[in-house]
Amino acid sequence: MHRRTLVAALLAATLATPAAFVPRADAQLKVVTSTTDLYDIARAVGGARITATHISEGYQDPHFVEAKPSFVLRLRDADVWAFVGLDLEIGWMLLLQGARNPKIMAGGSGYVDVSRAIPVLDVPPGGVDRSQGDVHPLGNPHYWLEPANAKRIATLFQQKFSQLDPSNASTYAANARAFAARVDATTRALAPQLAQIKGKPIVAWHTSWRYFVDFSGADIVAFMEPKPGVPPSPSHLAGVIQTMKRTGAKVIVMEPFYDRKMADFVARNVPGAQVLVLPASVGGVRGVDDYPALIRHDVTRLAAAVR
Ligand SMILES: [Zn+2]
Repeated sequence: MHRRTLVAALLAATLATPAAFVPRADAQLKVVTSTTDLYDIARAVGGARITATHISEGYQDPHFVEAKPSFVLRLRDADVWAFVGLDLEIGWMLLLQGARNPKIMAGGSGYVDVSRAIPVLDVPPGGVDRSQGDVHPLGNPHYWLEPANAKRIATLFQQKFSQLDPSNASTYAANARAFAARVDATTRALAPQLAQIKGKPIVAWHTSWRYFVDFSGADIVAFMEPKPGVPPSPSHLAGVIQTMKRTGAKVIVMEPFYDRKMADFVARNVPGAQVLVLPASVGGVRGVDDYPALIRHDVTRLAAAVR
């Protein structure tokens, strides 16, 4: 009640003197992100100066998150809406209309399409390509699995938070530097595992692992999906089995939310092969609670599998 009275008093003061409006010094930016990875990086940069929530969970397929009415409520009073972009969230972008919050609509000060800060892979040479059900029509949206991109995301958040809340700019800058240092320390500590992965042939279910192998040095010789989002046909599976035998690939990497029956089938038909289920997001499995933990987990498990 006290808080509400205070807000009412501030509101009255604001209405009385619109020209002299100054945000409260202790007002926290309200940040809503689509994914847990963006959420974790936003929290690292914003610290105690922001409140953050995310819409999808790390164990869900980010392409197919169900749009819930409760999301609209979260977006209604958000200062920042940060999303992966490249149509990853196309299924729920309509929620923005329902939120009726001009700050986070396209062109608003809090509308943050994170892909704009990223060198995107797999951009179709002829422009948008949705042919045959490709779910990456604007390019590959799974860029957070590359630590260099995680640092780019942190810098983007630092700039955005500082723009909206200049009084805490030095805090955001220090936090972004600390996040980058933690990411660098994580990858440095993984040097022995990365050396084991470098050049090793693997198969991936989805092209989500493209950025991860750019960083880790593995060589993806085939994808289980003939196109992103398109399940494998029997003839495609036969081709994957042949490719694995020819290249010596022994590991099929996939996220926990795919049905592994077909991956198991392929693994059974390649001597010594195995299916490796890895989370592609923070919160994807128990214990992967922040971004450095995600990278540590995936690199360590992949190194053990390809050894
Ligand atoms: Zn995808």
